[in-house]
Amino acid sequence: MDLYEHEAKQLLDEAGIPTPRAIYAQNSHDVALAVEEIGLPCVIKAQVKIGHRGQAGGVKLVHTRDEAILASEQLLPMTIHGHKVSGVLVAEAKNILHEYYISIAIDRNSRDFDVLATANGGTEVEEIAKEHPEAVKRLHISPLEDFNIDAARAMAQQIGFYHADEEQAAQILLKMWQVFKDNDATLVEINPLAKIGDPDDDASKSLCALDAKITLDDNAAYRHDGWQQFVDPYAANELETRAKQLGLHYVKLAGEVGIIGNGAGLVMSSLDAVAGAAKQQGSDIKPANFLDIGGGASAQVMKQSMEIVLSDPKVRVVFINVYGGITSCKEVATGILQSLDEITAIRPIVVRFDGNAAAEGLSILQSANNPQINVAQTMEEAAQCAVRIALESGERA
Ligand code: GDP
Ligand code: MN
Repeated sequence: MDLYEHEAKQLLDEAGIPTPRAIYAQNSHDVALAVEEIGLPCVIKAQVKIGHRGQAGGVKLVHTRDEAILASEQLLPMTIHGHKVSGVLVAEAKNILHEYYISIAIDRNSRDFDVLATANGGTEVEEIAKEHPEAVKRLHISPLEDFNIDAARAMAQQIGFYHADEEQAAQILLKMWQVFKDNDATLVEINPLAKIGDPDDDASKSLCALDAKITLDDNAAYRHDGWQQFVDPYAANELETRAKQLGLHYVKLAGEVGIIGNGAGLVMSSLDAVAGAAKQQGSDIKPANFLDIGGGASAQVMKQSMEIVLSDPKVRVVFINVYGGITSCKEVATGILQSLDEITAIRPIVVRFDGNAAAEGLSILQSANNPQINVAQTMEEAAQCAVRIALESGERA
């Protein structure tokens, strides 16, 4: 999960990394209040989970309260590179003397942590790497060794921080590492890590994180209360959010066949089976979404899953593929029938059961004698049937 700048900044603040004073606001009235608090000049920064905001006009330096209000009125309704602006950060403007770049990321190739840094920051690091590859240093933090202040000092020196900035850079590197570890991040990036202050007064100069980007490892969410404080109503699809609240894993795709299965492996195979069947039939039918009901799902969970999948109006048919292990196909069948009773905008379903209580499940479905229910013996057969139905209902529509 990617964090917004204002959220990432909060994690840096907690770790004691210097950042500008800033207040998050979601309307121009709150921006005016924030400006009173922060003072002028300040920067009004669109909050979107995408980089290059500056180049896209998403960062505005303002000198008066009216300019701040105007800037927020321009930024708040904006969509930047397809991302709707969730709010703005009103941040103290700093006088930038120099820009550095530092990131720590997981390196799956070398199975350690990659520190990417340049003393000549300012633009995006990819661009610097292209034009001045020698200026971008790639260093590593070993998961097996302690990354301490001495190691951080050596690293700051290798990166090429100006001598006057070296000690503070080492402290910041160490704190970034703490943020990375404590929050189970996969990326912590500060760009720019700016040298700020009065050019004529050395004592006023210091390093400050003017922008931050943090990605958290979704697999570690359970260790952090599900990261409830970071749940993003702007990014998540509404149905994905509803599914998550129910403890289900739902993903929206672009096609016509809704897919419900138990277990990630079976769900992925179901997607492949639909793609294979569509290819064989020479059609461009695709999965509309997929939902994993997990292990041991009850009839209630199955009914909720049907509701979520059928809430997508693009779904023409639902392919239910369950291999009963802990999950009983009897429970799944009961849930399916309950959903057929309660959901008004029902569409055809194709069911393939195997494993625990498969025969009982199928007989429950058959005894319902509902023309919407189609039963298949194998996954391939079910996928063929689902694609055919999707194609026919598309032609009828
Ligand atoms: P990004 O474009 O999404 O990476 O957004 P940033 O927060 O990094 O801002 C883009 C650029 O705006 C920075 O590289 C700075 O040059 C400039 N900027 C951001 N904050 C300040 C500030 O406090 N003072 C000044 N003078 N420039 C700033
Ligand atoms: Mn930036």
